[in-house]
Amino acid sequence: MWLAANLGFWNHPPHLPQDVMRTHLLLVTSCLGLFVPAAHAAIKISAEASERPSPAFQFKTVPAPVSNDAASQAEFTLLAGERDPNGAELTALQDGRLPQNEDQPAQNFFFRAGSEGGRLRIDLRQTVSIQRISTYSWHGGNRAAQVYRLYASDGERAGFTNAPAAGVDPEKCGWRQLASVDTRKALGNDGGQLGVAITDSETNSLGRYRYLLLDVMRTEDRDAFGNTFYSEVDVMDANGPVPTALAAAREETPILSRFDAAHGVYQFTIDATSAPDLMEWAERELKPVVQEWYPKLVQMLPSDGFEAPTNITLRFRNDMRGTPASAGGGRINMNSDWFRRELKREARGSVVHEMVHVVQSYGRARRTNPDAPRMPGWLVEGIPDYIRWFIYEPETKGAEITARNLSRAKYDASYRITGNFLNWVTQTYARDLVRKLNTAGREGKYSEQLWKDLTGKTVEELGELWKKAHETRLAQATADPTPPK
Ligand SMILES: [Zn+2]
Repeated sequence: MWLAANLGFWNHPPHLPQDVMRTHLLLVTSCLGLFVPAAHAAIKISAEASERPSPAFQFKTVPAPVSNDAASQAEFTLLAGERDPNGAELTALQDGRLPQNEDQPAQNFFFRAGSEGGRLRIDLRQTVSIQRISTYSWHGGNRAAQVYRLYASDGERAGFTNAPAAGVDPEKCGWRQLASVDTRKALGNDGGQLGVAITDSETNSLGRYRYLLLDVMRTEDRDAFGNTFYSEVDVMDANGPVPTALAAAREETPILSRFDAAHGVYQFTIDATSAPDLMEWAERELKPVVQEWYPKLVQMLPSDGFEAPTNITLRFRNDMRGTPASAGGGRINMNSDWFRRELKREARGSVVHEMVHVVQSYGRARRTNPDAPRMPGWLVEGIPDYIRWFIYEPETKGAEITARNLSRAKYDASYRITGNFLNWVTQTYARDLVRKLNTAGREGKYSEQLWKDLTGKTVEELGELWKKAHETRLAQATADPTPPK
């Protein structure tokens, strides 16, 4: 979903009568929660949540961060509040380096946990005609919203203080408030990648200033973690150089490989835009697996009237934290870092697992009938692991029950343990077990009775027999160890 609000509004010209002025202010506070006091400039604040958060920080209306803005040469100083030691130094706000995902404390500046926020000053080192000030943040929860007041000064007004302490009104010591930003009312407080752009709607300049002061507030106080993850601050000089896009933004040129399988029945796209280094491997190693195995999986798991998705995108992503891979609809997400580590081991098999999810299409039954029984999670994951470990790569023996994991061998333990159970029941009782379980899951007809119908035993009984079979086998192996090869 794309969250965006163009929070444009303008200050009242000084000649307007009082009631019109109040109308303007009410409009501002009620729809936007933003307030800008009297200033010469016709301040416009745009705030937007990125539709497709990526390390490039791209928005529809707010310009992406750049590397050669006036803030990149400025001096950032903490005037009040404390930096959180789990976060970055203040220089993170000006270094033109952006987080790779929504949970990278070390790539963001934020105030200490439990604190109310604080103040930071940006000294541009010279007076600059400021065209735009932008602030960027990224977090999956309520540390993405931006709440701050922005003050500016040329440092030359009488009584100017360059470091107003917490609680001191900067407007009483030579500063002018340019904007009050609160993205929560328009964009919510549920996380995302946010960009705010402060400009003048009538002229090319917010004014000529040397110092900026950000009076930053936390987004919530229900817990200690309400201080925003600020990723970058840009200050654009109206007379500055042509903006240089950040490296991350330049990498956004799509890097795609398109191919088909089964004589054009299935179309695939591998998207390595966020991980160009992985494309060579994907072309050489992954593509043949996809071309051979997707049609096979479709054949293995048929059901009346079912047509598997024919358009599948496999995308490398840098924002998946600990999840190696995932699937939804015709999309498979691959965690770039995890794949780099597993290229020679589990990478291809994990994609086979995800392709089974695409073929399963268990969401369909509940879309037509919301009351249809849900396929149990252990089978949703056990079936792909059964196919992966016992049909796609049996030689790796990746789903064995051993003396070490025997105690965890419960039929509904999911993933490869359930995969082992499904293999045992298939070999012992019902060759077409997995196909029939899959059909039931896809048609919203799964029930435990199915096991009894297919094998003559309940799933609990099968689980006991399966575990006993492994216990017996392992006991024999201990009593009569095979000599090491
Ligand atoms: Zn899975």
